[in-house]
Amino acid sequence: MRLRLRNIFLVYFVVSSVGLMYALLQIGQPCDCKGTNAHGRIQHSVVKGHRDLPEDDHLPVIYVVTPTYARPHQRAELTRLSQTLLLIPSLHWILVEDSAERSKSVADLLAQSGLHYTHLNVQTPPVMKLKDSDPNWLKPRGVEQRNEALRWLKLNKSPKDFGVVYFADDDNTYSVRIFQEMRYTQKVSVWPVGLVGGLRYEGPRVEKGHVIGFHTAWKPHRPFPIDMAGFAVSLSLLLSHPEARFDPNAERGFLESSLLGQLVSIGDLEPRAHNCTKVWVWHTRTEKPKLKQEEILEKQGRGSDLNIQV
Ligand code: UDP
Ligand code: MN
Repeated sequence: MRLRLRNIFLVYFVVSSVGLMYALLQIGQPCDCKGTNAHGRIQHSVVKGHRDLPEDDHLPVIYVVTPTYARPHQRAELTRLSQTLLLIPSLHWILVEDSAERSKSVADLLAQSGLHYTHLNVQTPPVMKLKDSDPNWLKPRGVEQRNEALRWLKLNKSPKDFGVVYFADDDNTYSVRIFQEMRYTQKVSVWPVGLVGGLRYEGPRVEKGHVIGFHTAWKPHRPFPIDMAGFAVSLSLLLSHPEARFDPNAERGFLESSLLGQLVSIGDLEPRAHNCTKVWVWHTRTEKPKLKQEEILEKQGRGSDLNIQV
């Protein structure tokens, strides 16, 4: 027994000594990781609100259009998205609530976000609105809200405002790289989107720098089989087509085509993300939270404090 304990201790001692020696050897070695400066030191970037960043008048502005609606995890989605957007310079968030009035919850979140933003609202007409029991593909979502943002851009921007418009739903996952890719869009830039259309990714197929088709399995006859997160439109192109809108009555899957068809043809598309070989945006979805216990406590008069924003 004593012999066994000694063996265990010996093995432990040898393994830790080797680990310690390896760690000591690594100190002072050059690092091959990204995010180092010219001196090879890791840069510690401090995330600041845009209001704290120096204005860069030379960069075209990225107008990010996000439809959003009230549900228990809305603030979680908007917090995650807003903190991604904070990492992008020269960005203006147009957040459009699907509601009769702008809510205090969203207004507070925006005011504290550190972003440049515009807060709009428009309610989806009841006949077009999904019911809780409906599968979410039954009706298009966020259409009136995206169109409201297009109206706002038309009224408030002029051709001298260089920029690009991106329709970013509140539940997707965005790498900062996708914003870098879209900034200098001439007409419409495109890239693959992960986890959509029943595939690992859907995206344009590119040859010699031109889009020659699409990697897609679902309704491949769509004129532009591209997810909402897979393209950005230059502001000047939109302003030169002031009536261009998403069609609320478009067949399922044809919403993106309903706008793009008014603006460009396939030959105009500008492939980005290394000729559409990189996935830097994902069509993720959030599980609906279960709040059963909340109802039980409410019935007992001990429900959660409604003054606490969640
Ligand atoms: N949305 C909305 N009103 C609704 C349902 C959705 O404004 O009644 C917004 C939602 O917040 C999101 C976008 O529309 O930004 C797309 O909705 P969702 O993510 O549910 O659609 P899917 O991922 O199924 O395409
Ligand atoms: Mn979604």
